[in-house]
Amino acid sequence: MDMIPNPESPPSDQEPLAAAAAGASSSSSPSSSSPSLSRYESQKRRDWNTFGQYLRNHRPPLSLARCSGAHVLEFLRYLDQFGKTKVHVQVCPFFGHPSPPAPCPCPLRQAWGSLDALVGRLRAAYEENGGRPENNPFAARAIRLYLREVRDLQSKARGVSYEKKKRKKPPPPLPDHHHPPPLPP
Ligand SMILES: [Zn+2]
Repeated sequence: MDMIPNPESPPSDQEPLAAAAAGASSSSSPSSSSPSLSRYESQKRRDWNTFGQYLRNHRPPLSLARCSGAHVLEFLRYLDQFGKTKVHVQVCPFFGHPSPPAPCPCPLRQAWGSLDALVGRLRAAYEENGGRPENNPFAARAIRLYLREVRDLQSKARGVSYEKKKRKKPPPPLPDHHHPPPLPP
């Protein structure tokens, strides 16, 4: 019980998982769909269905019982293609810049906050769906390490801190865009 979804995550990091991911509508959803589900509960159910879909589409086929932490990592990496959070590579001029003034070709990823919350929901869903805590692949140490790595990487790349809120600094001045004079005709 040492890992709870981080309530400190800024709202902008709580992207809903791309609905595109596995087309969320699953035939195996429980029949007891109560309209009074909390946001957390319905999100958890959606995530669980997405993961189930992922398992069904897995090649070679993968059953929940045989699912390990390594498979969960694979799933988390797979989700990155639906991410909307720009994570600058080290050579990008905006590396470490929280609000870049211009677009850049760096990849989009799932935000750390989204992944962290997702893993928390799936870990709970796994046990609610009959999984034994000692087999819970979402509680694997490898996942904790992976999430920590993603957090460190993204906080450096995006120039944001996921630790306690620091007092606000004024935004840095925009770089002075210097246009070279046009070449003579
Ligand atoms: Zn960039």
